[in-house]
Amino acid sequence: MPERDLLMIPGPTMVDPAVLRAISAPVRSQAAPEVVEAFGAALEGMRVVLGARAGAPYIIAGSGTLALEFGAANLIEPGDKVLLIDTGVFAYRFQQICERYDAQITVLNAPPGDTISLDAVEAELQKGGYKFVEMVHVDTSTDVQVDVTAVSKLARRYGALVVVDGVCAAAGVEVKCDEWGVDLYMTGSQKAFGVPPGLALCWTSERALDTIRKRRKPVRNFFCDALNWLPVMQAMEARKVAYFATPPVNMICGLHESLKQILAETMEKRVRRHAILSRAFKAGLDAMGLRQVPLRPEIAAPTLSCAYFPPGVDGSMIQHVRAHGVTIAMGIHPRLKPYFRVGHMGTVMPNDILATLGAIESALLVAEHELQPGAGLSAAMRVLVEM
Ligand SMILES: *Cc1c(COP(=O)(O)O)cnc(C)c1O
Repeated sequence: MPERDLLMIPGPTMVDPAVLRAISAPVRSQAAPEVVEAFGAALEGMRVVLGARAGAPYIIAGSGTLALEFGAANLIEPGDKVLLIDTGVFAYRFQQICERYDAQITVLNAPPGDTISLDAVEAELQKGGYKFVEMVHVDTSTDVQVDVTAVSKLARRYGALVVVDGVCAAAGVEVKCDEWGVDLYMTGSQKAFGVPPGLALCWTSERALDTIRKRRKPVRNFFCDALNWLPVMQAMEARKVAYFATPPVNMICGLHESLKQILAETMEKRVRRHAILSRAFKAGLDAMGLRQVPLRPEIAAPTLSCAYFPPGVDGSMIQHVRAHGVTIAMGIHPRLKPYFRVGHMGTVMPNDILATLGAIESALLVAEHELQPGAGLSAAMRVLVEM
């Protein structure tokens, strides 16, 4: 694949060259001052991105799925009742993990493309006894975003902890763990953080840590045990050395570099950039006559877009887009008609949005989809003037 091609999928995403250079530094000891500084500063940066001055952030080798495993392993004891909100395929992934830890699971399914009704969540919570409620902040199979603030408020009222799969959200949308009352946030390096795959990023509130400390039996997953990692993270944040298992030092240097860029941009401006780029891209899809998966614009997330193939166009469209030097992805929700997904998060800029829409327009013209050439680009450009 030519190095200038665009990777516009919902993870992994394109990585800034400075981040790649940071990763290619010589391998150092985890006790080397440069590594301790990068590790500590990366933990501090995570606090800013997650809106989490309290509690504890964790950087662990693994993918987003390991972050989900971390959440389930630490909080679940056999027989615990958990409530999962399903807005796409990633709820099912977490459900499968919870099954391994012998949770008693209730799933609330939103219709595909829709979010969950708060009344439905409350009706379930009223039954009582839930240890936690889990939701997917942005579901990568539907582009649906859940109102974490509102669900957290409900969960707290009924004494349940709040667990969030933010793998496709953090660093691209606003996250305020302290303020919203989140207890465990789970994410990864390769989506809106703009770092290659390889890091599971988690955060626990004081309340979650209390719950973990009071477990009847130790966490069943040794590598994921928050109490094994906590002393290491605390030491590194204080620029001291501690060891539990060898940290992925080069990846942490990459995360540190990316977080430096994120903090220099500021989260406020980064959230705004993602919102504008997403509105521009979605306006382009609309103007090309493509129907999107989220049922209403208000529930669509800004980190990606999902649109159905129009009549007469199939998955081979993605190959035509590819030929224009842009990689986009097929849909992955089994209950939806064929659709495609485009990630526009992390390092993505207006030119990437225009190049991607242009490639999709070309592919649709080749497939003889009725379209005024330039219609999508023109609609996007009208939004991009806000940047
Ligand atoms: C990508 C993703 C995951 C899985 O992450 P991996 O890094 O592929 O293990 C989980 N949840 C959501 C919402 C995701 O977007």
